[in-house]
Amino acid sequence: MHPRVKQNWTIEDSAELYRIRDWGASYFDLSDKGEVTVNIKFPSGEVRVSLMDIVQGITDRGMQMPILVRIENLLDAQIARLNESFRAAMARIGYQGKYQGVFPIKVNQQQQAIEEITKFGARYNFGLEAGSKPELIIALSHLSGSDSLIVCNGYKDEEFIDLGLRAQKLGLRCIFVIETPAELPIILARSQALGIRPQLGVRIKLSSKVGGHWNATSGDRSIFGLSTSQLIELVDTLKEHDMLDCLQLLHYHLGSQIPNIRDIRAGVLEACRFYIDLVREGAPMAYLDLGGGLAVDYTGSQSNHQHSKNYSLDEYCTDLVEVIMGTLDAQGIAHPTIVTESGRNTVAYYSVLIFNTLDVTSFEAGAIPAQAPEGAHELICNLYEALQNLRPETLQECYNDALYYRDEIRELFKRGQVTLRTRSLGYDLYLEILQRIAAQLVKMDRIPTELEGLREYLADIYYCNFSVFQSLPDTWAIDQVFPILPIHRHDERPTREAIISDITCDSDGKIDGFINGHEVRSTLQLHPLKADEEYILGAFLVGAYQETLGDLHNLFGDTNVASVRINEDGSFDVVKEIYGDSIADVLGYVQYNPKALFEQFRNTAEVAVRQGTITVPERQEILEAFTASLRGYTYYEK
Ligand code: PLP
Repeated sequence: MHPRVKQNWTIEDSAELYRIRDWGASYFDLSDKGEVTVNIKFPSGEVRVSLMDIVQGITDRGMQMPILVRIENLLDAQIARLNESFRAAMARIGYQGKYQGVFPIKVNQQQQAIEEITKFGARYNFGLEAGSKPELIIALSHLSGSDSLIVCNGYKDEEFIDLGLRAQKLGLRCIFVIETPAELPIILARSQALGIRPQLGVRIKLSSKVGGHWNATSGDRSIFGLSTSQLIELVDTLKEHDMLDCLQLLHYHLGSQIPNIRDIRAGVLEACRFYIDLVREGAPMAYLDLGGGLAVDYTGSQSNHQHSKNYSLDEYCTDLVEVIMGTLDAQGIAHPTIVTESGRNTVAYYSVLIFNTLDVTSFEAGAIPAQAPEGAHELICNLYEALQNLRPETLQECYNDALYYRDEIRELFKRGQVTLRTRSLGYDLYLEILQRIAAQLVKMDRIPTELEGLREYLADIYYCNFSVFQSLPDTWAIDQVFPILPIHRHDERPTREAIISDITCDSDGKIDGFINGHEVRSTLQLHPLKADEEYILGAFLVGAYQETLGDLHNLFGDTNVASVRINEDGSFDVVKEIYGDSIADVLGYVQYNPKALFEQFRNTAEVAVRQGTITVPERQEILEAFTASLRGYTYYEK
C-alpha cells in the first residue's frame, strides 16, 4: 500500500476529512461510535447527543426523510452568543451605550423560528427587522408588550406606514427606515393624518465596498439607501416640517456574508462619520444600525474566502464597538445603541437537512473478459492492448488511446458497422482503463494537466431523497457550499468519490461543490452503500435563507420538519412535528383542485368498467390508490 493511503481509518481521520470541528462552531462533532453528535452546553456541563439517534427517534414517530431537523437549543445558543459577545466587548472597552439586535425576518420567516427567536431573545430585547407588510404583521404580533425594536426596512406604502404608526401608539417600537427619497412624503402625510409622530431612521449608501458574493449591495451603485445629497435633502425637509427630532437611527447594510473583517471595520468607520454629522445637524440620534453581514464559516477555513470569514464573533463585536467608541469619543458624541440585523449567523446552525440515499451510479466497467473474445473487432483488440500497456510512465498515452478508440467505436456504431455489444464492451474497456489510471494518480506527486479532472469524471452519482431547488436553493442559484457529510459510519473509510444528485428531473438538481478548506472540491468522499442499511446524509448550516427561497420545482414541496430540544440529562424531546406538503397541497399551489382531479380520474375508471377493461372491485382499488397518493408525501416514500 502506498504510504499516503493510511491503513486504518479512525474517527479522527473522518473529523479531519469533513472538517466538522472547523465549521461546527463546537455544536457538532463525531462520537466514538462514528456518528455525528449535537453538542449543547448546559450549566452542569456539555451534553452530546447522536444525530443518528435523533433521526431514529423522529422516523420511529412515523416521519419519513427528507426531514429538516431543527435543534432549538442551537438557535438559543446563537442568540446568546451574539448578545453576550457584544455585552462583553462593551464592558471590556467601557462603551456607554448598549447593544440591541434585530433578526431580519426574511432570513427565516418560519413561524417556529420567529417564535423561538422572540421568546428566547426577550431577555436581550432582541427585536425583528421587517421588510414587507407580511413581515411587519409577524413582527407586530410577536413583539407586543416588549422593549424590542421593530426596524422597518424596504418599500413602505401608506398601509405599511399606517400600521406601523398605529402600532407605535400601542407602545411598539417601530422605526421606519427611509430607504428612498419617495418614502418621506408618504410618511409625513400619514403621520399628519393620524396625528402620530413617527420614529425615523435613514439608510445610507456607503462608499465602502465589501468582498464576497454580495458586494453589489455596497458602494455608490447599491440599490437601497440615500446618497449624501439625498440625505441632506431629507434633513432639510425634516427641519422644514419641524420633525428632525423624529430622526433617531442611522442604518447601512453592506451585504450579507462579509468574509473580511477589514471591510466591516471600514464600513462602520465611514458610517460613524455620517452619524456624527447628523448629530451636528441637530437630529437626536440614538441608534446606529449596522445591518447584516456577520458571516458564517461554512468551510471552516477561517479565511476571507466567500463562504468563510476571517474573524471570530468576539473580534467582530470588539472591532465594531472599538471603532464606534473611538470615532465618536474624538468628537465628544454620546455612544449610540448599536443595532445589528444579523440573520445568517443567528439561524444557520439550527437546521440540518437529513436525507437518505436511494441509489448509486458508478462509472466502473462491467464484467470484461480477460482477453479479447474470438473475432473481436480490431478496435476492441486495441483497447485490450492499451489496458495491458498501462504503467505509471504510460498513463497519458493509454488515456489518449482509450479516448480515441472509444470514439472510433461510437462512430462505427452510428454507421451501423459495429454491434451494440461491441460498443458496450468498448465502453467497459475504456472505463476500466480510466479507473486504473485514476488509481495510479492517487500515488503521484504531479498529475498531468489533462488527467486532472479524471477523479470528477469517474465520480459516483449518489441519488438522494431531496430537492436542491426546495431545500438547498443557494447551491444552485449562487454556488453556495454547505458542509455535507454522512451522519454515521465515521469509523469506516469513505472509499467512494461522489457527487450528489437530487430526485428532480433536472440536470441542475445536483451538488458538485463541497467544502475543502480554502477551495471548493467537486466531489465528496462517501461510503459504499450497504444492502441492509440506509445511508443517511446531512446538509448542515442550512437554517438561513434556504427554506425561504426554496421553490416547487417538479412539485417537490416543503419537507417534513421536526423540532428537537435537547435536555440537560442527554435526552431529547421532539417538540414539534410539521408534516411537509402532501401531493394535494402542492397541486393546490399551482391551482389544481384535487377534488376535480379525482373526479376526472374517477370518470376514466368508470369508462373502463363500462368497457369491461377492469372490474368494479379493481376500480375501487385504483381509486383508493389515487386518493392515498393525493394524501402522500411528494418525496420518495418507503
Ligand atoms: N439587513 C438587510 C437590510 C439585509 O438586506 C439583509 C440581507 O441581506 C440582512 C440584514 C441580513 O444579512 P445577514 O444574513 O448577512 O446577517
